[in-house]
Amino acid sequence: REITADEIRQIVKDENVQFLRLMFTDVNGIIKNVEVPISQLEKVLNNKIAFDGSSIDGFVRIEESDMLLFPDLNTWLLFPWENDHGKVARLICSIHRPDGSPFAGDPRNNLIRVLDKMKKAGYSAFNIGPEPEFFLFKLDDAGHPTLTLNDKGSYFDFAPLDLGENCRRDIVLELEKMGFEVEASHHEVAPGQHEIDFKYADALKAADQIQTFKLVVKTVARKHGLYATFMPKPLHGINGSGMHINMSLFNEAGNVFYDENGDEQLSETAMHFLGGLLEHARGLTAINNPTVNSYKRLVPGFEAPVYVAWSGKNRSPLIRVPQSRGLSTRLELRSVDPAANPYLAIAAILEAGLNGIENQVAPEDAVDRNIYRMQDDERKANHIQDLPSTLHNALKALSNDDVVRGALGNHLYQSFKDSKDLEWAAYRQEVSDWEREQYLELY
Ligand code: GLN
Ligand code: MG
Ligand code: MG
Ligand code: MG
Repeated sequence: REITADEIRQIVKDENVQFLRLMFTDVNGIIKNVEVPISQLEKVLNNKIAFDGSSIDGFVRIEESDMLLFPDLNTWLLFPWENDHGKVARLICSIHRPDGSPFAGDPRNNLIRVLDKMKKAGYSAFNIGPEPEFFLFKLDDAGHPTLTLNDKGSYFDFAPLDLGENCRRDIVLELEKMGFEVEASHHEVAPGQHEIDFKYADALKAADQIQTFKLVVKTVARKHGLYATFMPKPLHGINGSGMHINMSLFNEAGNVFYDENGDEQLSETAMHFLGGLLEHARGLTAINNPTVNSYKRLVPGFEAPVYVAWSGKNRSPLIRVPQSRGLSTRLELRSVDPAANPYLAIAAILEAGLNGIENQVAPEDAVDRNIYRMQDDERKANHIQDLPSTLHNALKALSNDDVVRGALGNHLYQSFKDSKDLEWAAYRQEVSDWEREQYLELY
């Protein structure tokens, strides 16, 4: 059921809400917000709050800078954190032009556009269950993050060993207060690394939740003297942080990935969607792994995918088909990392899958052997491609993939590319400690 403007007016009175945070996301996945005092409530509800779009990365040029915030009332959320000034609530907004039309450079609008396309193709929902991982580092006395880990825990450790465990419990409790249904939370393989999985939701809500999740994790961690980072590979030599994406496609009759009589009880539609994901896996990489650092995670030996392959049995490939069937039949894409802009990533993944359905793309056979132990020529014989190994290679693959580019639309593709080209250009000029250690005395 949708919440109405009148209900919001009532809650504001009953709960003494004093500030509204109007949130949106820029092309790089960074959460932005405009905070207004509650006196502006009517303006907010009437889509009248304007802001300067030229100050946001990838939005618009100075001469067309006035943008309007259209709140999605369904995203109404009262933050559980009390404050001397009363309560704070938030609304997630879409960005519109001064004439009221949706702004194509807004990643959230773009996801809505791709979802509309999905509906025209006969589907009712694209459900997403994310598995975000993150590290907790200690804060120093000045409140800045250090690289000191706060624990010695490891995968699924039982005993609450340390600060990290307490902090994670607190995060889960806060999330539940905010309406998240947390399905699992556990210590990850690396010291200081955690994962919290929440229940699947339809694509738009899931993307909104991922953004809210990051905010909550960071806020609660600070209260514990810790810094939570979603940087994909903060430390060399141990696992990085991924954000596996579980997905299923529904129509009015139910989950279209399930077919009681299908091979492995997977439908033809599921296989074609999978085929689309594999066909566009390289083109999707820049979106799903958008930073220079993302590619330090996508290396052998740390449970992150490196090759384009799928399996129903093996946990290591790019795409896994988890064992559950029926309503929870799903595909799990394991390359995505938490630096990805969830609106862009989900739109691009959906577009690739729908394209697979439309063109009836048959996936290569499942690879149930350990791909990492194969020789190069063996992988080649099995048609197993590499994922792009750097942001630069990923951007090239994206520029050659019309389907994934189409999932962003021209405006977003250009602003994404411009931003990422700059990032790569800056990085390639850097000289690292590693290089000096290798070469300074050798040559
Ligand atoms: N941290 C691993 C990654 O980078 C995932 C580990 C796991 O969840 N099994 O994707
Ligand atoms: Mg997991
Ligand atoms: Mg994990
Ligand atoms: Mg997983």
